Amino acid sequence: MPRPMRSPAIRARRLAQVGFLVLTVAVGVQFSFWALARTGGRTPVVGRPAGVEGFLPISALMSLRLWLAGQGIHPVHQAGLAILVAVLTMSTLVAKSFCSHLCPIGTVSEALGRLGARLLGRCWLPPRWLDVPLRGLKYALLSFFAWATWVALDVGGVRAFLDSPYNRVADTKMLLFFAHPSRLTMAVLGVLVVGSILVRDLWCRYLCPYGALLGLLGRAAPLKVTRDPATCTDCQRCTKVCPARLSVHAMVRVGSVECTSCQDCVAACPVKACLVVRSPRVGTRHLWVRPALVVGLAVGIYLGVTTFFRLGGHWRGSVSEQEYAQRLREIDSPPYTHVGGMAAAETERSEASLARSHVAR
Ligand code: SF4
Ligand code: SF4
Ligand code: SF4
Repeated sequence: MPRPMRSPAIRARRLAQVGFLVLTVAVGVQFSFWALARTGGRTPVVGRPAGVEGFLPISALMSLRLWLAGQGIHPVHQAGLAILVAVLTMSTLVAKSFCSHLCPIGTVSEALGRLGARLLGRCWLPPRWLDVPLRGLKYALLSFFAWATWVALDVGGVRAFLDSPYNRVADTKMLLFFAHPSRLTMAVLGVLVVGSILVRDLWCRYLCPYGALLGLLGRAAPLKVTRDPATCTDCQRCTKVCPARLSVHAMVRVGSVECTSCQDCVAACPVKACLVVRSPRVGTRHLWVRPALVVGLAVGIYLGVTTFFRLGGHWRGSVSEQEYAQRLREIDSPPYTHVGGMAAAETERSEASLARSHVAR
């Protein structure tokens, strides 16, 4: 796949991707120091970064459900909800833009795809008869998570899960899962890494339920890539660079669930203003957004929404360091090894034992 021309927009997008990846790694390292000290019964030298809750999408989805049901913002993982709302908002206004601008997994996946193209000369593209059903997998996974978070539990069940001991330490459970991977986990990760070198965007295109949700929301986005057939020369450069393998040269408005608003096609188009990101017609005019401004808008929405939550006091969760110290010392005990309907009962029991241990100290 040819590389798109260098343009300020593509450079700005790469900068946003790298910046967010570095930030994510920094948050991960700080959280690891904190969690390993706490689970070892020591006092951490660094604080727990709330941003780690961006990796708790199920908990965030449940918080969102509770919030939309008028039950307020659940106090435990507030940053997780803030990040989810920011991602959903940016991807609903600028179609699926989280995937191409900020998602660290998308950035790594893109880099692995480029590495594969450099090593092997090309990426393998599954034939259409295989590509279409494989793309359905991510919707099957999304349906399962939607059912588990929005259908299988009523609002009381959702609250019980969010209050449960498991959810209160879900970030540390996740870290320990990857810090001590089983053979199966290692095998799956290995297949995904090698597969992403051979097949561009293997995880994102076929398996990621989060991306599936963002793609569906992106269908409603007012800002989408739009082609002007009157000036188009049919050179097809846009189609050749599209990482989502869309026939951009044959579309007027790119409304596909796979389009991530990366603007590689816009940067590759040699005809001025033929391919742009713009709104539908409002009266006699379109809202036309400069390519670099699209990047600024997408990232700005993310920063704006998360800042709004921070300023509103909804970033740091309600679990105190003292509570973490107690819970993480017993993280391998039964209340922390399962999730689901029994969460409320477990919560009561664990809260009682926690209170007793605090009194005893
Ligand atoms: S598809 Fe999923 S992993 Fe890929 S960039 Fe989008 S949200 Fe990230
Ligand atoms: S259509 Fe354009 S903006 Fe959308 S994914 Fe393809 S190259 Fe990126
Ligand atoms: S790159 Fe531009 S001119 Fe060429 S086919 Fe695409 S939209 Fe038309």
